Amino acid sequence: MSLLLKNVRAIDPAAGETGLDAIVDIHVRHGEVIEIGPDLDVDAGEVHDLTGKVVVPGLVDMHVHLREPGYEYKETIESGTRAAVHGGFTGVAPMANTNPAIEDGTKVRGLIEKADESAFCHVYPVGACTKRLMGTELAEMGDMVAAGAVAFSDDGKGIQDAGMMRRVMDYAKMFGKVVMAHEQDDGLVGCGIVNEGPVSTKLGLVAWPAEGEEVMIARDIALCRLTGCALHVQHITTARGVELVRAAKKEGLPVTCEVTPHHLFLCEDDVTSSYDTNFKMNPPLRTKTDCIALADALADGTIDAIATDHAPHAKHEKAREFELAPFGTTGLETALPLVLTGLVSTGKLSWERLVEVMSILPRQILGIDPVSLQPGSMADLTVIDPDRHVSVTADWFESAADNSAFLGQELIGCATAVFIEGYAALLDGEVVDQ
Ligand SMILES: [Zn+2]
Repeated sequence: MSLLLKNVRAIDPAAGETGLDAIVDIHVRHGEVIEIGPDLDVDAGEVHDLTGKVVVPGLVDMHVHLREPGYEYKETIESGTRAAVHGGFTGVAPMANTNPAIEDGTKVRGLIEKADESAFCHVYPVGACTKRLMGTELAEMGDMVAAGAVAFSDDGKGIQDAGMMRRVMDYAKMFGKVVMAHEQDDGLVGCGIVNEGPVSTKLGLVAWPAEGEEVMIARDIALCRLTGCALHVQHITTARGVELVRAAKKEGLPVTCEVTPHHLFLCEDDVTSSYDTNFKMNPPLRTKTDCIALADALADGTIDAIATDHAPHAKHEKAREFELAPFGTTGLETALPLVLTGLVSTGKLSWERLVEVMSILPRQILGIDPVSLQPGSMADLTVIDPDRHVSVTADWFESAADNSAFLGQELIGCATAVFIEGYAALLDGEVVDQ
């Protein structure tokens, strides 16, 4: 199996000493990059002329919900990873809040087996920190590491007890794994559903204050200092939260964080008297000032990764009243077009930085083998057409769900091909059935 990508702009800031940004050909054989350079004279079985397109090391989404096992009516590993490759990703890290939760080695192995059967891309399992994500009893962390868990998270819930979080971090450190933290203080947040401020007051919806997130970020940074365990703050949403992470990094602590496209590109003002439940997320959409601070922090290196928190739901669930509908928006298919349209084409984010925050750093944080465009690397590749128009409509999605906060948007730029270990999972924008 040999593949030749011709006349493509290759961007990989981790390649060589100075990084790579050049028009080249790339030769792939047996799942590996064999040669890269201008006008390669190679006889390959499969040749694609990619003039005008960009190729980058395959994108990884380090925070998704694939809903399997237990909630297959919302999404499955198959449909969720179809959405992933459609969005340009070569790998995803699903969270543990399934039913049953991913809380011991058997569950991790079950997930890996199911992914081997039905996934369109790599699946990197994240194990729960505590049993049933209840925050009271440690999950079988060592057992899960042995089975292949890459990291730990009780995502969906904050771990309320600081002593429990400390034990989680002590154990994770022993295994060299990162703890990914959903930062939510239940005492402050209660049943809050929108950002506390004028919008929550005007719409008469229960408020979720920024401080409910910020006090937990501060606590977990303190626990990171105490334990030495790597801490990854999930879906950070506020300017003050970003300041806490910035200070922790300056101190030299092993703290990283991610931001979602919806927290970058939408704010509380998008929640209106139409009470569209696709704008109900956890943590909630914050202020415009927060959005600007998040974009700045992404560009300056304080925020390490863009992750979607892809949260698919069935139609009947999101069709309920705002108070009763579940939290979340889908995100796998809109993330790259949004970032290209809103940040790269406007010059706020360089192509190099896009590759860092969507490909290089997510792998690094999760401790997954790096992927590059250099010879010897596994050929996980994402090909992007920066000029292709995307109309975000329900029937454009490959996900089983269409609860997207971005429905109706017109975006420019998307993935048109994805190669996983040298095999095409997406070609000309269409998912390749296996
Ligand atoms: Zn979460």
